[in-house]
Amino acid sequence: MEPVFIKNYTLPDLEAWVESIGEARFRARQLFRQIYNRHIRSWDECSDLSKMFRAQLEFGTLLNASTIVEKQEASDGTTKYLWGLHDGQLIESVLIPDPPRCTLCISSQVGCPFQCKFCLTGTLGFKRNLSTAEIVDQVCQVGQDQGARRRITNIVFMGMGEPLANYASVLQAIRIMVDPNGLAFSHRRITLSTAGLIPQLRRLGSESPVNLAISLHAPDDALRSELMPINRKYPLPELLSACREYPLPPRKRITFEYILLDGVNDSPKQARELVRVLHGVRAKVNLIPFNPVDSDFRFNYRRPSDARILAFQEVLQQAQLTAIIRQSRGAEISAACGQLVAKSSNSVASD
Ligand code: SAH
Repeated sequence: MEPVFIKNYTLPDLEAWVESIGEARFRARQLFRQIYNRHIRSWDECSDLSKMFRAQLEFGTLLNASTIVEKQEASDGTTKYLWGLHDGQLIESVLIPDPPRCTLCISSQVGCPFQCKFCLTGTLGFKRNLSTAEIVDQVCQVGQDQGARRRITNIVFMGMGEPLANYASVLQAIRIMVDPNGLAFSHRRITLSTAGLIPQLRRLGSESPVNLAISLHAPDDALRSELMPINRKYPLPELLSACREYPLPPRKRITFEYILLDGVNDSPKQARELVRVLHGVRAKVNLIPFNPVDSDFRFNYRRPSDARILAFQEVLQQAQLTAIIRQSRGAEISAACGQLVAKSSNSVASD
């Protein structure tokens, strides 16, 4: 019999499953709390469950969906986790302490199908979607590993993969993250970042009030299609009208991520164009100076000079558009999107 990955289940799913093996329904809530509040590492720790039920759990289920293969901590505290999955695939998460916040950046797919020109994950190709358990486990096991040292305050879907291309599992994972009996995060502390899959974006708006971030990266259709091939399917004007119609809670804004690539999308003229296209959208902009990746992966992009980055920000601010420059973190441990996995697959390939 295939083992049940217990972290695939929301509380109602778990109630149904517990009943299906002949246990009382209320046991599910007890179990859910043990898993997500007490962060148990094995069923033996559940001394309040009968021996019989524990044996059923032990032989019929898997508590963890992944194991830590490697962990690297940079001098600024940024910590990168490399996970091994049951079928040998690798994914990564990055913990970014920034007191009083401590943000965990998680993956939603193994690799990515969308091949954005500046992103290392795209070069790995697409392997498969993550299950709900594999998504949730990144949060559970980092929490366990860090213990009282650092408590995760925020979760961002900005690791490997496109979360909206794995809609069902991602939404199910969010349900477990926000369940008061589960990981008990507020929706306000969870951000989903997308390259702009319009139908799923509309669905998300009607189904979950998590924060939304859009990877924009260009102020016009032609350049965006060049940098992000997905733009040919979901062009910029349609993406922006979906953003205008997005049902935002009061005082909330959509975050637009904009990687600054020297001489490509960072001119003052392009900054003015960005202001123009974001008109009427409740927006704030995160400017992300390009994070140079290893020289063995030859991307033809460079980080702009600080003067150019500041000049770009200035244009947006002059137009009353909030624009924050994101400092890159954990450079010495390759904390940019896809770098650790790319390195370890590289070393496997050259063994
Ligand atoms: N697929 C989703 C989430 C993963 S990417 C999305 O596109 O939003 C998360 C963010 O990291 C995106 O904004 C992406 O463009 C950015 N990113 C990828 N490679 C980068 C690099 N080399 N330097 C800086 N940011 C990068």
